[in-house]
Amino acid sequence: MDEQEFQNLAKDSPFVESPVMPNMLEGDTTIQFRCHRQVKCWNACCSNIDIPLTPYDILRLKNRLGMSSGEFLQQYTFPYELDKDGLPGVKFQPVEGGTACQFMVDEGCSVYEDRPAACRYYPVALLSMRRSDEYTDRTAYALVQEKHCLGHQEPRKLTIDEYRKEQGAEGYDEMSRGWRQLILKKKSAGPAVGKPPQISNQLFFMTSYDLDRFRAFVISPSFNESYVVPVETMAEIVADDEKLMEFGFNFLKQALFNEKFLEEQEGAYEKRRARLNERAQSIIAEMQKDRQRLEDEKYSPDPRPGDCGCGGND
Ligand code: SF4
Ligand code: SF4
Repeated sequence: MDEQEFQNLAKDSPFVESPVMPNMLEGDTTIQFRCHRQVKCWNACCSNIDIPLTPYDILRLKNRLGMSSGEFLQQYTFPYELDKDGLPGVKFQPVEGGTACQFMVDEGCSVYEDRPAACRYYPVALLSMRRSDEYTDRTAYALVQEKHCLGHQEPRKLTIDEYRKEQGAEGYDEMSRGWRQLILKKKSAGPAVGKPPQISNQLFFMTSYDLDRFRAFVISPSFNESYVVPVETMAEIVADDEKLMEFGFNFLKQALFNEKFLEEQEGAYEKRRARLNERAQSIIAEMQKDRQRLEDEKYSPDPRPGDCGCGGND
């Protein structure tokens, strides 16, 4: 791939929000970097954050903090748009009135073992890319060299692959693969195909980020009236967040791109159509009522003396 092709592919990456333009690097590229407590810039990176979160980042952090996903989202994140069609994403919400991460302490990161993938990767950026004429995605990396980060001057050399291993980024990548593929698929489908209406965006948000709410949805009667979930699968996903998250990615592929994952219950399609029809009828009835009311107001007789509140004495 030449430089121009790379720049075209990279333009959809969240990385382009950074002032640093990427040069594509492979995993075996050697970098010079080390971050440790004695660097003069200690905590500079965590003092001014712009950290997008993956579903697995949220899963790890909400479990570490003993919170529900809803509570975590409320307290530690804010929503943003992952693409021009409004696909929802979430980022870390900094401290109130400031730019620092809520988890930053003097010693460094208070959630270090469960820090998000973006924190593990820094100063490397992961670029997942996919061309519209390709089925599989490809991975490349870029090095972010910001002036304030003095780790680049430390005398240690290692490959990007070694750095990923050291930072525990590999497991995070593995857990996020299904989600990254979903996003790439959405982006490469273009604006006309698979463009999610509001309801699909809500489903995407819940399934990706609000795992505990998604669990409640999956065990609800309405979900089970629509889909056949084998008993063993249901037992697994009720008890295990990671299994539930993977189940969610596959469910989203079905919901957004019609990729068959779950069998539908017999008659579920007809029931859904009937419910939609019912809803459409009630919306039409409401509209007709509104129109009638407007017509009635338009042709109602002139107000009688006293209707204006003046008592009719003028
Ligand atoms: S989670 Fe930890 S490493 Fe990441 S920005 Fe916050 S304090 Fe820094
Ligand atoms: S060396 Fe870079 S990553 Fe480490 S604390 Fe300083 S700014 Fe952050």
